[in-house]
Amino acid sequence: TSSFQDVPLAPPDVIFHLTAQYKADTFQHKVNLGVGAYRDDSGKPWVLPVVKKVEKIIVNDPTIDHEYLPILGLPPFREASIKLILGPDNPVIKEKRVVATQTISGTGACHLGSLFLSRFYSKSSVIYVSNPTWANHKAIFSNVGLEVKDYVYYSPKTIGLDINGMLESLKNAPNGSIILLHACAHNPTGVDPSQEQWKAIADIIEEKKHFPFFDCAYQGFASGDLDRDAWAVRYFVNRGFELLVCQSYAKNFGLYGQRAGCLTFVFKTAETAAKAESQLAKLQRSEISNPPAHGARIVNLVLNDPVLYAEWVDNLKTMSFRIQEMRRRLFDKLTALGTPGTWNHIVDQIGMFSFTGLKAPQVKVLKEKYHVYLTDNGRISMAGLSSSNVEYFAKAIDDVVR
Ligand code: PLP
Repeated sequence: TSSFQDVPLAPPDVIFHLTAQYKADTFQHKVNLGVGAYRDDSGKPWVLPVVKKVEKIIVNDPTIDHEYLPILGLPPFREASIKLILGPDNPVIKEKRVVATQTISGTGACHLGSLFLSRFYSKSSVIYVSNPTWANHKAIFSNVGLEVKDYVYYSPKTIGLDINGMLESLKNAPNGSIILLHACAHNPTGVDPSQEQWKAIADIIEEKKHFPFFDCAYQGFASGDLDRDAWAVRYFVNRGFELLVCQSYAKNFGLYGQRAGCLTFVFKTAETAAKAESQLAKLQRSEISNPPAHGARIVNLVLNDPVLYAEWVDNLKTMSFRIQEMRRRLFDKLTALGTPGTWNHIVDQIGMFSFTGLKAPQVKVLKEKYHVYLTDNGRISMAGLSSSNVEYFAKAIDDVVR
């Protein structure tokens, strides 16, 4: 008998399971609104033109080989990542209070950041995450031994942010707790705090001496404006917090499978930063030895060249504007149909995802009668909508809510 015969069967990942069901469906007009990756208006994955261009440069560069990168990653990539998220002139850069580690995309940054905290953050081993949050957060944080608790975030009643509930939860958390914050384009709700609300959140985090843990998986992808999407992170840094930020280049560069990301840590002093950097390198060494090169090279060339950078910003706008356009068209169609309920949250929410307010039984009908695939919590990926299916989807919603 196997030594592992008692290994329990784990349930399949919800999103990947949904995609498998969608693929197996033979209906011609089926719609996949589960997937968390950008699709163009014909429903296809989109390789950014600037990425294609840079890949050619890399392939034809005789100086590029397949040696290992340094443990902490490609140095100019790390520097450029810091500047992208904090702003190029942020004083913490000159003061050498910031450390960046190249990671296995955003997931790896969340992992390494929480692993570091589990070893070296003495005030707490509890991390508070928004209710709801990206499903993988809980798994990542509990894997490194942190206890995961929720703070109030989303209000099903208003299909918006419950700011008072959120502030209350943060007040009630023991001093020094770790607080996971979505920097922009909250996944799964698409509901972000306003700048005024961020200020109130920062006030409580400061008062309670909590540690802000930012997850930034959608910079530039959310609004089409890289600075605007980084506003909350920069605001906290300017107020003098010690914090960390997980950066992912999966969505904003379309580099999903290349696993390019960065963990950026801001400390109070240069001395602490230097010591922490040595420990991050030690942890990284035992985890992955050194990070993957190709995606980081692409990002590095683009971020460090003004012409390519401008082209990237243009590509980002193509993606974020198409998503905004789909929000607008879905909203207009529902309004034209006179669909019961209020739907302005569809255009108020931001980023790839939207909480529609649809309930599990309605989602079931959407799937079985209309071959439209979305998660049971009513979350849709706007990227799955296109000019050829948005009307079909609006009519399906109209039917299930009546
Ligand atoms: N954090 C959030 C909130 C996300 O939505 C995602 C991707 O869906 C990630 C992190 C990490 O993704 P990746 O590891 O592909 O960069």
